[in-house]
Amino acid sequence: MSMPFLIKNRIIKYFHSGASDYDSTEEMRKIYLINTFNLIAFLFVFPFGMNALYESMYILAFALLSISFILIVNYFFLKFSHKKEIASYVISTLFFILFSYLVYTGGLDNTGPLWIYPLPMIIMFLLGFRKGILYMALFFIVIIFILFGLENTLYPYDFKLRIVLSLLLVTFLASVYEYLRERAFERMNTLSQQLEEASHHDHLTQVYNRRGIHKELENACTHYNTDNKNFSLIICDIDYFKKINDNYGHIAGDEVLKKVASEIKSIIRKDDVLARWGGEEFLVLLLNATMEAAYEVGEKIRKSIENTSFTYDKHTIAMTVSIGVAEKDNELPISDIISQADTHMYKAKKEGRNTVYPKPKGKLEKEY
Ligand code: GH3
Ligand code: MG
Ligand code: MG
Repeated sequence: MSMPFLIKNRIIKYFHSGASDYDSTEEMRKIYLINTFNLIAFLFVFPFGMNALYESMYILAFALLSISFILIVNYFFLKFSHKKEIASYVISTLFFILFSYLVYTGGLDNTGPLWIYPLPMIIMFLLGFRKGILYMALFFIVIIFILFGLENTLYPYDFKLRIVLSLLLVTFLASVYEYLRERAFERMNTLSQQLEEASHHDHLTQVYNRRGIHKELENACTHYNTDNKNFSLIICDIDYFKKINDNYGHIAGDEVLKKVASEIKSIIRKDDVLARWGGEEFLVLLLNATMEAAYEVGEKIRKSIENTSFTYDKHTIAMTVSIGVAEKDNELPISDIISQADTHMYKAKKEGRNTVYPKPKGKLEKEY
């Protein structure tokens, strides 16, 4: 690996330090900021500390080198504990103390107050709008006390007043920016959740679509991969649905689809999963259900649809469904079990429709 690549890798690693696999974009943003400000503060404070030591200003050297040490500890604290809130407060507080100190002592030739202007940005970025406002209010109290409360003769009165007013302006701008950023982020978050939701659901019937049930099927395969746990599938296809469309129109067909979906939903249990598998086909994942139990549920669905009186535009539309049932098999992939249920559904069609296939041999166990 080339040298620049290694250096680039090292830098990326530094800014990612403290991140975990579960962090959202917003949390990652916070981690980058903490690591950035940690580094800036260290580069800012450590050389001054060493210089103070060189100049035999031991108290100042001790203070600055202690801050540098806390910054290093903070970096490793975040890296191993992933506690972003605490790490943010540590940096904010260190900057708070450092800048108050610069105003109090005047720094080099009384230029100390010039450094305080990045503080509102740092505080808002790290703590967010609400906590940032509170923290800045506290900083104003401290600064006003240092400038006007103590007998401070470092700066002329008008200069002190302008320090406070210009810092107020920067704080206002930084908080407006942070407020708008947070609102925009929330809006984007809501939109992306809605999109995610929409991409997993069928627009017409509001039940899962193929993509939506896919994850549930995979989960079932992983969690029910033992002999004492069972799940079954039901594929339910509306009989002669094309005729309903032809006789009463497409909109009537859509209403029938909605009605069938809500009927199935009202019969299955809360933990079972219903999806619109294709045009007029529904797939149901029945958890903790054997083939016999699934057959019973299939029968319930079949009877209930048969007895449903559905009226559209003054027409009473009769409908029936054909149902195929299949049970999980630890040796087979889920696609094979779905195919089995599909084949069984076609068998139900062949047996004259309005049927559940296969009928269990022997006595039905009352599991549902
Ligand atoms: P079978 O009993 O053999 O299942 O016959 P069928 O008429 O139900 O089956 P076929 O596959 O011939 O027709 C299915 C029809 O479903 C064809 C298609 O136009 C219709 N369809 C698919 N999706 C929708 C939809 O979203 N809304 C409406 N109204 N019709 C749909
Ligand atoms: Mg059909
Ligand atoms: Mg079909």
